[in-house]
Amino acid sequence: MDYDILVIGGGMVGASLVHALRDSGLRIGLVEAVPLYNEGQPSYDARAIALSWGSRRIFEGMGVWQAMAQQTVTPIRAINVSDRGHFGATRLQAEEEGVEALGYVAEAAVIGRALGSGLAELPGVTIFCPATLTAIRIDEEAATVTLDQEGEQKILQARLVVAADGGRSTVREQLGAKTVRLGYGQTAVVASVISDRSHDNVAFERFTDSGPLALLPNTAPQWMTGSEHGDRRWSMVWTAREDQVDELLALDDAAFLERLQGRLGRRAGRLLAVTPRSAYPLGLQYVRDHVRPRLAFIGNAAHLIHPVGGQGFNLGLRDVAVLAEVLAQAAHQGGDPGVLETLQGYARWRRGDYLRVMGVTDSLVRIFSNDFRTLVVARNAGMVAMDLMPPLRRLFTRQAMGVNGRQPRLALGLPLNDRK
Ligand SMILES: Cc1cc2nc3c(=O)[nH]c(=O)nc-3n(C[C@H](O)[C@H](O)[C@H](O)COP(=O)(O)OP(=O)(O)OC[C@H]3O[C@@H](n4cnc5c(N)ncnc54)[C@H](O)[C@@H]3O)c2cc1C
Repeated sequence: MDYDILVIGGGMVGASLVHALRDSGLRIGLVEAVPLYNEGQPSYDARAIALSWGSRRIFEGMGVWQAMAQQTVTPIRAINVSDRGHFGATRLQAEEEGVEALGYVAEAAVIGRALGSGLAELPGVTIFCPATLTAIRIDEEAATVTLDQEGEQKILQARLVVAADGGRSTVREQLGAKTVRLGYGQTAVVASVISDRSHDNVAFERFTDSGPLALLPNTAPQWMTGSEHGDRRWSMVWTAREDQVDELLALDDAAFLERLQGRLGRRAGRLLAVTPRSAYPLGLQYVRDHVRPRLAFIGNAAHLIHPVGGQGFNLGLRDVAVLAEVLAQAAHQGGDPGVLETLQGYARWRRGDYLRVMGVTDSLVRIFSNDFRTLVVARNAGMVAMDLMPPLRRLFTRQAMGVNGRQPRLALGLPLNDRK
């Protein structure tokens, strides 16, 4: 057997799993199609990622947080949630939770650099990159994977394959894994925006008639264009109806900023400049069975959600922390990491979190993309109620912080198992 575990996809989630398993003693292979520091790397592109407080703790447990913080991550100390044209509004605050920040904003490229550095030196890890999985077969004793590595075919065997190959997972397609897909008819338009005042570490989530609009405080790391704007830089995720997207992308910068300012008001000050915009079609997608013998799905390969609330990667990172713990325990007890019984431990543990996050995200998108009068009244009453009732707001805040439910050891700052 070549490997105990073959991870397919070295994006944010796959590369995190390799770091998380660093002390497990397992032989790990990582297969990634696009070099990590390449401009076209799809996981570490121009998007900004809101990391929950829980994700920070997992990164700390994996020993990766420092490499991120040294580059620049921007703490979010408050989140203002409001509904354009209506009265409801609420404010979630780090102070109320007694933490330094509700979460952090990191450029995807910052996460890529932090995960990429030192990856090849981790004990027991072999990296195949650039290499693309083209076929997979699962037998009782092993999974067999065919790779195309720069025009050459390579065949590898492992006791377990972890599919971390993103929303368009080849592993999922090759194995015909049943997948549920729902469209929202919405596309996210993403860009960086510069304003005339400091972001003061406050994020804005504004619900508009076409869908949610998020503005995240995001000071750029020194090595990145945009760092000269210091704390006047924000990352925008504007969810627009599909029929409005072409027009939004075609506007010149001045017209786009005027439109954005109109949606946002003066909350972030006067908007002065915007970078080129990228578009991401949105939907909800999840694989029905997260595990089968010799196979586990994690991250976007398992579940792809709307970016409202910034939960997708955070959910994937919790997959990582739980799967790493389950696999390390099996390895410690001399067990086979690819048997269904072990993998079901992962699937069972993750189920509640998936249902909660997918349910809340889906409801937010539907409730807030709707202009039926009763819904408008109900959602505004809901936000007012949250503002008046600290326990309700606290529950919502803790979900956003990623600290609800049973926590894996990495998220508690503990090693994967007690073996030393
Ligand atoms: C606009 C937008 C904003 C977002 N904001 C947030 C946010 O604020 N907070 C948050 O938590 N999440 C956010 N997300 C979600 C987050 O980006 C994803 O959850 C995250 O990127 C998933 O990572 P992944 O590693 O599972 O998949 P991917 O990032 O898709 O990585 C998959 C990797 O697999 C590789 N690959 C694919 N096929 C193969 C193959 N056959 N062989 C080898 N390698 C292969 C790819 O090259 C890639 O590197 C946002 C998403 C969008 C679209």
